[in-house]
Amino acid sequence: MILMTAVVSSPLFAARAAGTAIKIIDAHIHYSHDAWDRLPPAEAVAILRQAGLSKAFISSSSDQGTQMLYKEAPDLVVPVLRPYRRRGELDTWFRDTTVVGMLSALLDKNTYAGIGEFHIFGEDADLPVFRAVVTLAKKHQIFLHAHADADAIERIFKQDPDARVLWAHSGFTDLKNIRGMLAKYPHLNADLAFRTELATSGILDADWKKLFLDFPDRFMLGTDTYTPERWFDVIENANWNREWLKDLPENVARNIAFNNADSLANWALKK
Ligand SMILES: [Zn+2]
Repeated sequence: MILMTAVVSSPLFAARAAGTAIKIIDAHIHYSHDAWDRLPPAEAVAILRQAGLSKAFISSSSDQGTQMLYKEAPDLVVPVLRPYRRRGELDTWFRDTTVVGMLSALLDKNTYAGIGEFHIFGEDADLPVFRAVVTLAKKHQIFLHAHADADAIERIFKQDPDARVLWAHSGFTDLKNIRGMLAKYPHLNADLAFRTELATSGILDADWKKLFLDFPDRFMLGTDTYTPERWFDVIENANWNREWLKDLPENVARNIAFNNADSLANWALKK
């Protein structure tokens, strides 16, 4: 009896019991060099599968990490090209002219759905290296995964009004600002990595809920494994997301959990 209670109360069991185990894509995973030894590719993929993910957007410093996971699980991995060779380049990469050649060569060699996640703020988004990255995304018809302020996002759309942009962490900005940006730019999507304030005990904050209902086709889930340790939160984060998603109408929950990320990946990959 005690065992039954424990099993029934687990979120995964509850979802399955209702016949609605929701499909999830995690749109913000990194597999960077300092994770490779501690968590070899097979073990990293095992975590993604244990989390019940249907797909994961993977970007890594260096891209070798993404290629290793893609080789291990091509059905699961949506490869995204990070402009970083190692940890610690996020403040400097957009002044490094060798980055453009590296990205260009990898884009010609491999398949990617996007370029990112990169960090860019304000007027740095108008520097030549960054402009070349926007041009590369346009040329290859892939999205940009930007950890950026609203100012940098505006500069991207000024350079290419047709760009597809995935705004990492929804810009870590307030809901009014997110709402304004989504209304202004129809090709702007936003991930929810580290926006843990959006729900408490599985209940959505009312303002976030309204935002999701007003923009049901723009948000997607993300964990952001920015350090090796963060990999151990991927399963817990998926389960946490499953809880608050139940607080939305089923079609909106499915969009945020899966469809929005799937559409973005398919736009880039199925040409
Ligand atoms: Zn990240």
